[in-house]
Amino acid sequence: MSDLNPFENAQKQFDEAAELMKLDSNIAKILREPERVLTVYLPVKMDNGEIKIFKGFRSQHSHARGPCKGGIRYHPNVSLDEVKALSMWMTFKCAVVGLPLGGGKGGVIVNPKELSETELENLSREYMRKVADIVGPMKDIPAPDVYTNAKIMNWMREEYEKITNDPKALAVITGKPVEQGGSKGRDKATAQGAAYILEAATSKVNSKRKTVAIQGFGNAGHIFAELINEMGFIVVAVSDSKGGIFCEKGLEPHKVFEHKKSTGSVKGFNGCKDISNADLLELDVDILVPAALENQITKENAANIKAQLIMELANGPTTPEADKILRENGRLIVPDILANAGGVTVSYFEWQQNMDDKYWELEEVNSKLKEIMKKSFTEIFDIREKYNCTTRQAAYILAIGRVAEALKEKM
Ligand code: NAD
Repeated sequence: MSDLNPFENAQKQFDEAAELMKLDSNIAKILREPERVLTVYLPVKMDNGEIKIFKGFRSQHSHARGPCKGGIRYHPNVSLDEVKALSMWMTFKCAVVGLPLGGGKGGVIVNPKELSETELENLSREYMRKVADIVGPMKDIPAPDVYTNAKIMNWMREEYEKITNDPKALAVITGKPVEQGGSKGRDKATAQGAAYILEAATSKVNSKRKTVAIQGFGNAGHIFAELINEMGFIVVAVSDSKGGIFCEKGLEPHKVFEHKKSTGSVKGFNGCKDISNADLLELDVDILVPAALENQITKENAANIKAQLIMELANGPTTPEADKILRENGRLIVPDILANAGGVTVSYFEWQQNMDDKYWELEEVNSKLKEIMKKSFTEIFDIREKYNCTTRQAAYILAIGRVAEALKEKM
């Protein structure tokens, strides 16, 4: 049987933790499903004058702790089940780091690399027109995700403002350019938050060497590579959708990034060996960082993973079956809902700054982020000891407990 349906996997992770913590079965029934999903069809005028219809989604998993929060993904493999899973993970991610937010997620089935700038803008504005009724600063606040960025967020914010005349429209979306209401530090926040966690997590494994392989070289993966390189970790392999590279003595992430910008891929970087994405996962490194998409570590390859520590920068990179194998092999996993929570944390800071119309310096952003990430890490490790469970289960127990509390108050 396939273990690759992301929503079923999200439910399995939830069920495991719910059972361990003996969650009230009525609360469990509610939290296993999203509150609302919307499917939209987006007519977009292409450069040749033709209208093309794109299909998109928005899923709101839970408002129990506050407005929903979660990115918008543009990718050819987006599906309703993927968006539902991502929205559920957002609910628990926000709760793990104690943010007064719920979980949402959006996506459009599209390969944005095949669109011109004008077509991309038309698509993004149309998406916002179609979801404007259900999003808003106090309802649901989108952000960037895979293949979306600050410019796209700004087009969507402008469109929302036009439609609603909401005086707080700036706060409808986060991950905006700093000049247009974005927060300092948001571009690096996911990687920065993970770097704070990595510092704490490496103290929990017996490893003197510190070699790292990173799958995915976008916003999360590439910036993480740069930050941990500065911290003294040795990044020996990175990859993108076209394949990867390996260099035993370590590579300089900023040079690889320049190479990717000029050639479109990390592949072919001078002095490195080209490898596949599958090879990268099985390298003999100390730390493995999936930072691309879901379902990369599965029951097919989990037994071959050699890294002692796995930092999930991507959402849902490990299937539940693979999780079991890694657990049996004594691997330490820092689960996605903690490892990549820095992004939503600074998104929350951006929302706060927009709502108060007061803007923070980068030092303030990073020191608040560090405090939140380290506190959550400690709380999760305490729960892990108390329940004698995995780090993922502990993170879910912490998060589900907080969401359940809020839900009970509303029932
Ligand atoms: P991005 O669009 O900036 O980069 C995605 C990267 O993944 C690109 O380098 C792309 O080439 C690569 N990629 C795509 N398909 C791949 C494949 N099959 N194998 C290997 N690499 C592949 O996206 P991002 O924002 O860096 O997001 C990456 C992951 O991190 C996603 O799971 C996302 O949900 C998660 N995440 C991102 C943020 C954020 O703030 N950006 C926050 C939390 C979680």
